[in-house]
Amino acid sequence: MSVRRVRYYGDPVLRQRAQLVREFDASLLALVEDMRETMKAYNGVGLAANQIGVLQRVLVVDVPQQDGPRHQHVLINPAIEKRSGTSRGEEGCLSIPGIYEDVSRAEKIKVRAVDEKGAPVEIEAEDYLARAIQHEIDHLDGVLFVDRLSALRRQFLRRDLEAISRGELPEDHLPPAARP
Ligand code: ZN
Repeated sequence: MSVRRVRYYGDPVLRQRAQLVREFDASLLALVEDMRETMKAYNGVGLAANQIGVLQRVLVVDVPQQDGPRHQHVLINPAIEKRSGTSRGEEGCLSIPGIYEDVSRAEKIKVRAVDEKGAPVEIEAEDYLARAIQHEIDHLDGVLFVDRLSALRRQFLRRDLEAISRGELPEDHLPPAARP
């Protein structure tokens, strides 16, 4: 198991569409373990395989709830079957450090996927969990949350995004290994 390097805005792999997983083998289990570890090391609530440079439709989420256990899921080949309502809320992204913006998403979703052993998973999610899953599924399609902002907001963030593309990361968002 290992913490993998997170890819940042400007890396072409974040703009590519991840492929369906067809082989449920040991290398998939290892990928999922590495993704869990990487998400934890970077203090993320979700991670899509593109973000560590792997173009497979695999995502992990680990979302805290106010009173109850954390929502921890591995979703492979996820598909949103139903969406309802709209909600606006703040999002950030491990691949776009230092930028947090309000994004509109469906408030509730029903998702079908399989887990790392190929067993079917069905989740009805709302609020922050629904937001996290939609954000990660976007990654699998090469879409980033900043794409969902208004043209005006994107213009406002242009310089910061360009800086991240050049590898200039905000100091408090350095990857774990680079922290003093
Ligand atoms: Zn993200």
